[in-house]
Amino acid sequence: MREFDLIEYLAGALGARRGAHEGIGDDGAVLEVPADRQLVVSTDTLVEGVHFESGLDPVDIGYKALAVNLSDLAAMAATPAWYFLNLTLPAIGQRWVEGFTQGLRQAAEGTGIRLVGGDTTNGPLSITVTVCGLVKRGAALTRAGAEPGDTVGISGPTGLAACALADLQQGRTPASDCLRALRRPQPRLGFGQALGDLAHSGIDVSDGLLADLGHIARASSVGAEIELARLPSAAGLSALPEQQRRDLQLGGGDDYELCFTAPESSWPAIERAALASGCLAIRIGQVTTGEEVRVLLPDGSEYTPARRGYEHGGSSD
Ligand code: ADP
Ligand code: MG
Repeated sequence: MREFDLIEYLAGALGARRGAHEGIGDDGAVLEVPADRQLVVSTDTLVEGVHFESGLDPVDIGYKALAVNLSDLAAMAATPAWYFLNLTLPAIGQRWVEGFTQGLRQAAEGTGIRLVGGDTTNGPLSITVTVCGLVKRGAALTRAGAEPGDTVGISGPTGLAACALADLQQGRTPASDCLRALRRPQPRLGFGQALGDLAHSGIDVSDGLLADLGHIARASSVGAEIELARLPSAAGLSALPEQQRRDLQLGGGDDYELCFTAPESSWPAIERAALASGCLAIRIGQVTTGEEVRVLLPDGSEYTPARRGYEHGGSSD
């Protein structure tokens, strides 16, 4: 497949219309932002062999490349609008491109996001997606608003994706719910948008619960206490030894649930929003005046996890 044909194919398949005002085909995309909205932009790169295994089904690659970016928009309480796709490909194989496009389409379905541009180059497989979303002026949810006394919440269980990855790396068959968490993470877009009006701070869990809650704590100059017994678990984690399960729940990345802090008075509305958008809203702890994120056992003593999160070369990705 030639580069020109690839771009034509992507433009046709992913909803962007060549020649349309905001579509693909000019030297740049012209995007209209309503006067009462702000643009939220986020970008993430997936590199073969680092973020996904060589030979992974292109449908899964396409799905994840867009889903992890949509999750960042969810964490910011933004509504998806447009995305850019920067593809570095060793060769442009038609079957690969069709599968990849199908995965992108699956992730985009129902979100309203449209492909409006990108770049295509030759080299080792790497995919960068840049998403743009819209929020009401001043309404973006950030990491910086947590207040002492807030309740810490999570939109679903964590540790499943990391459990599936460890199983695959060690030649075991992952439990179906863990494999689904790894391959088909669900960006919590509806819930994130509701949290924009209800929560003080939010983040998506990509590095691991403790690491990501640590980002909120640092940005907000607060501490937090997590009650280990309150962490939601899942069928696929239930057979693990307790310590291993706890460490996956606290440190496993890649689940893309939302972690947020909110005043207790918001909780009835938060629970209704979670129900309406098909996720959970579980209270897992409190924001404190301290500086650290601590994990407490049921007897009130502190639990020291084996690992706090996933890091690349010393900096979190
Ligand atoms: P230029 O040489 O001016 O940078 P390109 O040939 O790179 O132009 O791109 C032509 C058009 O195709 C642009 O609108 C660009 O956004 C779009 N495009 C290129 N690659 C991709 C891609 N992988 N996905 C979506 N749009 C793409
Ligand atoms: Mg170019």
